[in-house]
Amino acid sequence: MYNSLRMRDIASQIHPQTNLAAHETVGPTIMARGEGAYVYDDDGKQYIEGMSGLWCAALGMSEKRLVDAATRQLNTLPYYQNFAHRATEPAIELSERLLKIAPVPMSKVLFQSSGSEANDTAVKLAWYYFHAQGKPEKKKIIARNRGYHGTSIGSASITGLPHLHREFNLPLPGFLHVTCPHFYREGRPGETEEDFSTRLAEELDALILAEGPDTVAAFFAEPAMGTGGVVIPPKTYFEKIQKVLKEHDVLLVADEVITGFGRTGAWWGSQTFGLEPDMITCAKALTAAYMPLSAVLLSERLYAGMKAQSEKIGVFGHGYTYGAHPVACAVGVEALRIYEEDGIIDGVAALGERMAEGMMPLADHPLVGEVRGVGLMWGVEIVRDKRTREAFPAEMQFGIGIQNRAFENGLVCRSLGTAIAFAPPLISTPEQIDAVVSRFRDALDKSLDAYL
Ligand code: PLP
Repeated sequence: MYNSLRMRDIASQIHPQTNLAAHETVGPTIMARGEGAYVYDDDGKQYIEGMSGLWCAALGMSEKRLVDAATRQLNTLPYYQNFAHRATEPAIELSERLLKIAPVPMSKVLFQSSGSEANDTAVKLAWYYFHAQGKPEKKKIIARNRGYHGTSIGSASITGLPHLHREFNLPLPGFLHVTCPHFYREGRPGETEEDFSTRLAEELDALILAEGPDTVAAFFAEPAMGTGGVVIPPKTYFEKIQKVLKEHDVLLVADEVITGFGRTGAWWGSQTFGLEPDMITCAKALTAAYMPLSAVLLSERLYAGMKAQSEKIGVFGHGYTYGAHPVACAVGVEALRIYEEDGIIDGVAALGERMAEGMMPLADHPLVGEVRGVGLMWGVEIVRDKRTREAFPAEMQFGIGIQNRAFENGLVCRSLGTAIAFAPPLISTPEQIDAVVSRFRDALDKSLDAYL
């Protein structure tokens, strides 16, 4: 049944976010190569990569300028570290570029390799900062249900998805979660979007007061949630949330791991949705996923505290071997150059309109409760009953069925909770965007036929 590569995979490799028992019978789909927005499996079948991998391959699968940037750096200095006063030119140049495009004034950049590491780092920086302020008790972290921030012990604790916690002894104590700002699912009858946002800001305020403002360090938020099923913040949400945070001197960390570098049609989701964060975490499209790299951007206020603290202790005791990897940074510099010089970000605004034109009419489909999105990140809420908004029971795996039919149609999309998510590469052509929609609509129709 399996060719030897499939058998070798089953025999040797653990696949994250996978039913490991099912994998032993289902086996892997092996992707062999990529070109632009397409990937090809080892049988040569073509798929539109409608998720950019994991929301990350923003420039598609064959951008030679990124390959050349990596090759040049590999041939010059394949590795160096940035501990203890060492630096490389690509890391310096990338820091400068990030500070230049930051959505609010930022003072410094700290590199890691993954989004999870960036969010772990941001937690540690918040703690370190409040120690420097003489407030060591100010250390609780608040985030939202359905938020996704990573999978390490710290970042999974920030994450608000039960399957990331269950049977892993997570979240750690001191990591708290508030209501997901998804109006369609969490709004109450008669409530407007603005009322809903007011209620969620009041909930946050009440939680901070109940815990004690002197014990709460930071609030983490994706400007638009990705893995939680693409949730676009309701009107006035961040305005009201930020007012509460300011009142209680709670830092705002914008997790821009998905939304950074154009996904929402602006450089940053913070610009699209009006966030003024104290720290920004980013990764994924930072290198268009050609190399692993993440960054934390931090404000002058935070930096000043950290500087004072490291002076007192004698060292800033944090860092990763591959933190500012010169090859990753060289690819990052080239990716930012491409976004800028090729007008990629403006292009997303136009492609996003095209996607909206295709996606919004799907709201009439009997299986669709809500269509939501911004730029090139979209979610389609799947319902069993449009009127009551009842979802299919999780054990039916109805969304996975739709995802699989789309896959048969040559489209990669992703079932996340009760939604199907889309995040095509930012370099997709308008025709490819149309094909994402039509292949998905066909998968929906087939799923409805199979259900009825
Ligand atoms: N934050 C967000 C918003 C993400 O979507 C992800 C990954 O999907 C992460 C953090 C974690 O990034 P990584 O998988 O690189 O650790």
